Amino acid sequence: MIFFGFKPYGTEIDKKIFVPPLHDSFLMTKKKLFGTNGVRGIANKTMTAETSLKLGSSLGTYLHKLHDDATGVVAVARDTRISGNMLKNAAVSGVLSAGCRVVDVGIVPIPALQYYVRDHADAGIMITASHNPREYNGLKLIAGDGTEFSREDEAKVEELYYGKEFYFADWSMTGNLRYDASVAERYMHGIIDAVDAGRIRRAKLKVVVDTGCGAGSVVTPFLLQQLGCVVISLNAQMDGTFPSRNPEPTEDALYELIELVKATKADIGIAHDGDADRIALVDENGSFVNEEVLLAMMADHILRSNKGTVVTPVSSSLRTLDVVESHGCKLVWTAVGSINVARKMRETKAVFGGEGNGGLIFPELQYCRDGAMSAAKILEIISSGVKLSDIVKECPEYYNMKTKIAIEDSKKVMSEVAYQLKGEKLDTTDGLKVWYDDGWTLIRPSGTEPIIRIYCESKSRKRSEEMLTYFEGLVNGINTC
Ligand code: MG
Repeated sequence: MIFFGFKPYGTEIDKKIFVPPLHDSFLMTKKKLFGTNGVRGIANKTMTAETSLKLGSSLGTYLHKLHDDATGVVAVARDTRISGNMLKNAAVSGVLSAGCRVVDVGIVPIPALQYYVRDHADAGIMITASHNPREYNGLKLIAGDGTEFSREDEAKVEELYYGKEFYFADWSMTGNLRYDASVAERYMHGIIDAVDAGRIRRAKLKVVVDTGCGAGSVVTPFLLQQLGCVVISLNAQMDGTFPSRNPEPTEDALYELIELVKATKADIGIAHDGDADRIALVDENGSFVNEEVLLAMMADHILRSNKGTVVTPVSSSLRTLDVVESHGCKLVWTAVGSINVARKMRETKAVFGGEGNGGLIFPELQYCRDGAMSAAKILEIISSGVKLSDIVKECPEYYNMKTKIAIEDSKKVMSEVAYQLKGEKLDTTDGLKVWYDDGWTLIRPSGTEPIIRIYCESKSRKRSEEMLTYFEGLVNGINTC
């Protein structure tokens, strides 16, 4: 049996990704299976084994069509959630029924799966609900180049899912399944090669790392150890009940990390979300670091040695714009969503990009949000001897505020808001962003829920409050008309 155009099972070769032209009919799909971050729901209620099986079949059928009657290799991973095995095995069955070969890489962070898919598979499936509470789970699809599935390709899989026109291979051609336990190790080596490991090792940093019982537990504590750190791990036992904290690494959830950093006089505290594509930081005094500050300070670190374009969504803070402009470089704004940032980075050959939620992208390793790589890059910064709290103090100060409003007809509300803002300086990259001399406001309908989000930022708290109150009133007024 010969498979043309695929990566041979378990060997490393380069591969050209064929992306077929986009058809309007796919984009006009009415039923919305995929949300902003894949398919998600409460396990055995709104996210069932049946959904997972059909999604596996849809992905297998999609690959069969994409590769013109042949099939491909799909790598599958999961985070630590209790329902992970149920959903993973169902998805694997669906993929195998279409004749694809499957590599189960076990529990690993999503960026580790993406790193593996890029070099060894034609697609990937991550069973995860990222930062959502423990009862949630879902599937996220990875394209053959290691990036997240594009919205267009998700629409094609969704069309197959609802159309139920699945491809079933002949009995003799149903796929086979093998296991690969080397993925976390390969990923760690990739990171160590991409950072200044010598400088980090010489600094002998003391680091407290809270992986929240999630998928980061199999990588980050070991990575830091290999980078010569004194590692104090917290919540590093894999446990899908998330007994210590919510998978979302908010300041409130990280009180144990904060206390432990102070008690051990550590140089830094590091935390991840459930699938470890995001990072949160605590400085040496136990203060939580605002994620917008983290984005700006990382941009500064990268641009000091490598001048180039930086990419971030329109919802991100002016802190990053200030930093990028201070280096004489260009900032490119995108629509909200890490896939938009990653693809724009590749298009513009950017040197760095990310979101203001702790999701940072380093093109020298791969085009996706990457929690463990972010941890290593932060250590690269403080290995010069500078304290994290001092870097935070240097970052430009801004006041960010946001709210969300339940909306029945967001199209109507948005067009009325646009009318009211006629003559203002507007950016329509994603929703409506109005620029003022002393700040900005973004009014943006959610892609998945019947709500409109409002974000404001300025140098003064009073001004940010003023903008938020004004636009909240405007949207509410139109909504109740
Ligand atoms: Mg995540």
